[in-house]
Amino acid sequence: MITTTFFHTAVPPRPMGRYAHMIVIRETDSYALFQTDGELNTARVAAGQRDQTMLTRLTMFKRKQTTPERLIGRELLRTYGFISADQAGEKQTKEAATGLYLGKDGAPICDYNVRFCMQCPDCISYGFAIGDSGSEKSKVYSDTAYSLTAYEASHEAFTLNAPYESGTMSRQGSVTSRINEQDHVRPQTLFPGVITFRDPTSALFIYMLNNVLRTRRYGAQTTRTGTMTNHVVGIVLSDGEIFSNLMFTQSLYDALSAEGAIHPVEPVSSQRALDTAGQVVPSLLRDDGVAVTQFLTGAELTTTINDLRGRTRSEDGVQELLTAASHDSRTYHDAYIKKASKGK
Ligand SMILES: [Zn+2]
Repeated sequence: MITTTFFHTAVPPRPMGRYAHMIVIRETDSYALFQTDGELNTARVAAGQRDQTMLTRLTMFKRKQTTPERLIGRELLRTYGFISADQAGEKQTKEAATGLYLGKDGAPICDYNVRFCMQCPDCISYGFAIGDSGSEKSKVYSDTAYSLTAYEASHEAFTLNAPYESGTMSRQGSVTSRINEQDHVRPQTLFPGVITFRDPTSALFIYMLNNVLRTRRYGAQTTRTGTMTNHVVGIVLSDGEIFSNLMFTQSLYDALSAEGAIHPVEPVSSQRALDTAGQVVPSLLRDDGVAVTQFLTGAELTTTINDLRGRTRSEDGVQELLTAASHDSRTYHDAYIKKASKGK
C-alpha cells in the first residue's frame, strides 16, 4: 500500500520537497500518430548510457502525454458533477460567496483554456493561466519520452488512399490527388517515462494516478488510431526528483541489450521490458541520491493498483475519489487563490 503519511494533508503554497513519482512504460496498442506538422518527432541520442552508438528515437512531447490524461480527469469531473457541463458564456455571473461561475447544473464552470475554475482537482494539479486574473503552475511534471527502440524499427509509413466511389484511383483520365502518406508509430513501441507530482495530498495523487491508468488514446486527436496502455513499473515517494525519461530509456536499453533482448527490427515485449525495468530502477534510484520514503513495485504495487481499479469500478468509488480530490483542491483555492484574486 502507498505510505499515506508521506503526503501533505493540504497542498502547501510553496514547494516543500515531497515528490510522488509514477514510473511507467507506455506501449502503443495500435498505429499511433504523435506528430507536429505532419511528421513524427524524432531525436538523435545515444542508444544507451553504456552503449554510446547514436540512435534516432521517436519522441513523444510532454503535452502529448499530459493533455489526454488531463482531459480524461476533466471528463470524470463533469460526469460526476464536480464541474459544469456548460461552457463559459457572457451572461453568466459570479456567485458572490464563492467567486465561482456556476452552470445551469449548479456546478462550477471550468472551461479548458477559456475560463478555468481555479478550484477543481484538474486546475490545481495541472495548473492554468488566465490572462491577468491569475495562474497556477502545474504540479504534475513530465518530460519528452523516447522510444526504447530505434525510429527505423518503430515506425511505418502508410499511404492512405482516398479512392473514388467506384474504388478506382482515377476518373476520366485524371488520377486522384487524395493520396496521403502518413508516418505512424508501430504497435508495441515502448516509451519508458516518469510522471512526477510535486507536493500532492494523497487524494490528488490518486486522482492523477487514476487519470494515467484510464487514458488510452494519445496522439492526434482527429484520428481514431493511437491507443496506448500505460504499464506501471513503480511508485516512488522521495524528497527530490528522480532520473529523467532519457536516462531511464537508455539504461533500460543497455540492460535489455545485455540480455540479448534487443533485435533491431522487432518490438521488445512489454513483459520483458517491465521485468528488466524492475531490476534497473533500484540502481537508478541509488544513483539519484535522493531519500526514498517508499519504492512500491512488484507484488505490492500490483495489489495497490488492483485495489484502486477495484474502487473505481463502481460509481460510488469514483464519486468518493473525486470528492476527496475536490476537497483538497478547493481547500488550496480558498487558502491561496481566492484571497489573491480578491486583493486585485
Ligand atoms: Zn477547474
